[in-house]
Amino acid sequence: MTQSMMWRPEQERLSGQALTDHQLDLLRERLAYVSERSPFYRRKLKEAGIVPQDMQSLDDVRRIPFTVKDEMKDSQAAAPPWGDFHCIPQDEAVRVFQTSGTTGRPVRIMLNRTDWHENYYQQFMHYRCGYGLTEKDIAFFPFNYGLYVAWWGFQTAMEKAGLMVLPGGGQSSKDRLRNILDWNATVVCGTPSYLQYLAEMAIKSGLPLAESPVKRIVVAGEPGGSIPATRKFLESAWGAECFDDVGSTEIGNFAFECQAHDGLHVIEGMYLAEVLDPETLMPVEDGEVGELILTNLCCESTPLIRYRTRDLVRASRKPCSCGRHSMRLEGGILGRSDDMFQFAGVNIFPSQIQGILHGIDEFSQEFQLLIPRQGSGKRLIIRVEPMSEQVSESDLIRARDYLIETVRYRITITPDIEIVEAGSLPRSEGKSKRVIRES
Ligand SMILES: [Zn+2]
Repeated sequence: MTQSMMWRPEQERLSGQALTDHQLDLLRERLAYVSERSPFYRRKLKEAGIVPQDMQSLDDVRRIPFTVKDEMKDSQAAAPPWGDFHCIPQDEAVRVFQTSGTTGRPVRIMLNRTDWHENYYQQFMHYRCGYGLTEKDIAFFPFNYGLYVAWWGFQTAMEKAGLMVLPGGGQSSKDRLRNILDWNATVVCGTPSYLQYLAEMAIKSGLPLAESPVKRIVVAGEPGGSIPATRKFLESAWGAECFDDVGSTEIGNFAFECQAHDGLHVIEGMYLAEVLDPETLMPVEDGEVGELILTNLCCESTPLIRYRTRDLVRASRKPCSCGRHSMRLEGGILGRSDDMFQFAGVNIFPSQIQGILHGIDEFSQEFQLLIPRQGSGKRLIIRVEPMSEQVSESDLIRARDYLIETVRYRITITPDIEIVEAGSLPRSEGKSKRVIRES
């Protein structure tokens, strides 16, 4: 590729010593800032003997203690509702979000005017240019506007950037499809599983989705955007180019896919990214899988320092054909460090199974993985349940065979499938409960 839209190209092209200098300057500033404003960080940094001005290289950064999500939860439990890690008083906040809480107590995050209107905007303008969107685009957001950050930030930034925004909340899936077609949306943003569901519904209803003006789809919130089979289905059913998008309530919006489709670019002008071995916590080489650790270098409300995202990534520093030099996460987010397990020599993440189940209507989204004792010669068992008691036996057998085939294709192991009664699997359990080891 030769031509690529770029937001703040001087930052996108920073590399080597110039990038390190830029990041260390911002890091020293952020460390001084959090020491002054956040009792949580004042305590942590003092205990570790960290003096901002001592940060002279990335080796020094490794002396700084990590921040983990449980500390934030504990802080909010001890001093509800906000805890003591924020750097702003409540009256400066203009927006509040809450993590989804699927792994326990949610964390609440406040954002002030600068973060919501300026920092989020800057981050999403990098995304917008990566996706190749212009102010002529018409963007449809089929999501429920709630406390979960989802598409709130991207939508707000796109309005400011001059795109026409079609809010897709409070509508049935059928109405959403109709509105996408009637209003000539050119870009649709959603989770991969929901966009897959809409596409299947369009196919069943004979709606001409693939011939519609939708030219791009942006997916986030689940694995899928960087899983080849999911992407292929989405691109063909929507007749559109698919872009992956990552970010989180706690740390903000740190990486996007460009039109070269060669991994996700980290916004290194605003984030310090480290990739560490999740066991030894030492840096891994480029091309090796490790946990992504992020420091937010620009945030005013909750700048997190060395935040353990628990996301596993494979980083590359080779310049991309789009012209950006920033770190790329090859294959997107590969899984979660806290729930990965090894079976038959393959690293497996429950999120991969979840991603596959999202595409199978006959099964509910609940599942368990039963890992046999090593050397027993038994297969990994995926325990699933029908979506309802109404699913026929022949449909279940077809769905089971599809699940086996898809797991074999994507994960390269052949599982056994155990189908239990509809509604009998435990609900709302932590992610780790999905994995049961034979003792
Ligand atoms: Zn690129």
